[in-house]
Amino acid sequence: MTLRLKDRGCRNKELLVRNPIPSTLPPIPCSWAVVSDFDGTITLCDVGDSILLHFDAATKKEIEDSYAFGVNMCEWMRKVFLKLRAPKEKIQAHVLASTRLRNGFKSFPAFCAANSVPFEIASGGIDLYAEPVFSKHRLKAKSFFGKARVAGNGVKITYPFLKKNTLDDFKAHRVLRLRRLGYKVIFCGDGTTDLKAARAADKVFAAKKLFGHCRALGLKATRLKNFHQVRDFLIQEGLKAED
Ligand SMILES: [Mg+2]
Repeated sequence: MTLRLKDRGCRNKELLVRNPIPSTLPPIPCSWAVVSDFDGTITLCDVGDSILLHFDAATKKEIEDSYAFGVNMCEWMRKVFLKLRAPKEKIQAHVLASTRLRNGFKSFPAFCAANSVPFEIASGGIDLYAEPVFSKHRLKAKSFFGKARVAGNGVKITYPFLKKNTLDDFKAHRVLRLRRLGYKVIFCGDGTTDLKAARAADKVFAAKKLFGHCRALGLKATRLKNFHQVRDFLIQEGLKAED
């Protein structure tokens, strides 16, 4: 598929000045792939935390403590969601009313697909809240989420894709897998569990806690404000590859 650069709505004026718009722009060569976290990265807030707070299944302090180094996030999710007593419909209604996508994300999976850029979501979140968000915005992307079953005695979560890995290692493995296939990999994340994947990536877009960890450790990262930045980075790399 061939797209004109201006059709992609490139907002990076500097990029446009330095790189005059070609009459046609071929698909970005398949040299880059993107792996992204979901909660707090694709969404502005952590959806899981929002549910737990709204239905009084966890306190702010318990949630804050879950972001410390050394916490097994999926074990924590399994344990704390068992305390959640609410019907599926109410949980999903809360998700739809309170969840906002980060700017530029809505068109991002389609942009990647149109340009042969592999894109996947690696998340410790669960299908219970990811599915209504995907459905509302008609999003399609390869993704890994925990499976949740709402019962009278709490929400039971399983993570079949983890096997014996921690979430941190799983995310890093997804990045390394794409690198082994010959791609350079962008990782987008916001949390402590994203640090291993960020270390394994060629380019990091980081928000919130992950940005702080990267700075503290001297790991190069661009502050993730929106997904237009990620798209513009891919376009810039595509233009470079054409030179
Ligand atoms: Mg996150």
